[in-house]
Amino acid sequence: CHPQSTKNWFCWGDSAVGKSSLVLRFVKDQFDDFRESTIGAAFLTQTLPINDELAVKYEIWDTAGQERYKSLAPMYYRNANCAIVVYDITQAASLEKAKSWIKELQRQAPEGIVIALAGNKLDLAQERRAVEKSDAESYANEMGLLFFETSAKTAENVTELFTAIANKLPLQ
Ligand code: GDP
Ligand code: MG
Repeated sequence: CHPQSTKNWFCWGDSAVGKSSLVLRFVKDQFDDFRESTIGAAFLTQTLPINDELAVKYEIWDTAGQERYKSLAPMYYRNANCAIVVYDITQAASLEKAKSWIKELQRQAPEGIVIALAGNKLDLAQERRAVEKSDAESYANEMGLLFFETSAKTAENVTELFTAIANKLPLQ
């Protein structure tokens, strides 16, 4: 049994980019092709060891994230240690939305919040990619964000995403 460090997370991004699917993959290792879309927000937790001495308890708000819930964002980021802003690599417009939310987060969120940009649906890259990895990655570097392309469907890079953020957080 490891002592725990509890961290608050929230996921934000345009609708249907796969926020709920990423959280579900990380917490329950499941994927569902026909998910009901999230109304309001769901709260999930997961605890994973990050080294021999310490486990991180992830308390995650999976938000609806649509435009009409935008005014709720401060409620989440006020207490957040980290934010995952998600876009869909097959929808260029979803990256533009993600960028505008990142701008707001960097302006309003508490000092020290760790922000990650996740380009989801990597399994569709071969047939339907609309955002080049290098473009999103250089934007993320410029803004000082962690960056991963992920697939909630195949699980590629999902644990890596959460673990990379946890490793960047001050542990307490
Ligand atoms: P949210 O609105 O951002 O929470 O998106 P959801 O998690 O509800 O997912 C929206 C749709 O995209 C659903 O039909 C999912 O099955 C699908 N989806 C989510 N993640 C992936 C992924 O990594 N790959 C593929 N191919 N589909 C995905
Ligand atoms: Mg959702």
